[in-house]
Amino acid sequence: MIIVLRHDVTPQQIEHIKERITKLGLTPMISKGTERTIIGVIGPEDILRVTPLEVFPGVEKVMPVLAPYKLVSREFKPEDSVIDLGKGVKIGGKKVIMMAGPCAIENYDILYEIAGKIKKAGANVLRGGAFKPRTSPYTFQGLGEEGLKYLQQVGKELQLVTVTEVMDPRDVELVARYADVLQIGARNMQNFNLLREVGQTKKVVLLKRGMSSTIKEWLMSCEYVLAGGNFNVILCERGIRTFEDYTRNTLDISAVPAVKQLSHLPIIVDPSHAAGRWGLVAALSRAAVAAGCDGLIIEVHSRPEEALSDGAQSLLPERFAEVVNNLKDVARAVGREI
Ligand code: PEP
Ligand code: MN
Repeated sequence: MIIVLRHDVTPQQIEHIKERITKLGLTPMISKGTERTIIGVIGPEDILRVTPLEVFPGVEKVMPVLAPYKLVSREFKPEDSVIDLGKGVKIGGKKVIMMAGPCAIENYDILYEIAGKIKKAGANVLRGGAFKPRTSPYTFQGLGEEGLKYLQQVGKELQLVTVTEVMDPRDVELVARYADVLQIGARNMQNFNLLREVGQTKKVVLLKRGMSSTIKEWLMSCEYVLAGGNFNVILCERGIRTFEDYTRNTLDISAVPAVKQLSHLPIIVDPSHAAGRWGLVAALSRAAVAAGCDGLIIEVHSRPEEALSDGAQSLLPERFAEVVNNLKDVARAVGREI
């Protein structure tokens, strides 16, 4: 249920409505737009049938939200959400944000080298995993806290926003201490305890789409984070499993305009994990920007053949620079900039 407030609603009237909702055992969530203020009502709404809220001063109309996700939906917040990543970077506006870096943080020197190059190429955000969800328990699992320290240090030195994956609810506090953005990986998209835990923080969350998840399931997972009070979420399409096995996954490009219609949250695309091979990354990036994404997250490594994970899909820094450069025209063509 959402309550659309009148243009001339007073702060006292808003407080009164919120109090009433809370007394009924429901949770009011405020969305202040440029046009209107909306209150989302979370919880078992049936009780509202016997307590009509239309009669309260300041209320214009009360509407059911048809989608199963409420706070994530455009009905709750008609305007695009612009999320502040810190270090002067915002996502969800006109600018398409470039995020790049190695799959895994391997050591300080190589991270610093890659970070310097991606920054020069126009990236604002440095990616790198310290906790890696590997298919095999025998492959490199990440440097853990040591890796987080390198990431934080390089981010500070080069003024880059940092993003890294958190896999375990018990590590959320640790990862949040070092990184600017908490990534929830595809394999954990429905780890509801983890989603609840990051929902309790005020950190920006990058929620990747599960490889076998529908858009609806993905948005429902996102709802867990928002329902916890954290509205700073970026969605990330990274390819889904289909019968096609030429690529690692199939990039669902339609997810970009679909999510834009269904939700107010920013959506980015990860062409690297979708393709699984570096030679496809440039074209998929162009398609993603043309489709209206708010950013890209691309794996870059200065020695892909020696990378401890995902070398085959990692671009050389020079190639990444070329990709960014070529994207500028595409961005301009769809009213965006890079
Ligand atoms: C990653 O970003 O390195 C990663 C493991 O991604 P995904 O969760 O999309 O597979
Ligand atoms: Mn990877």
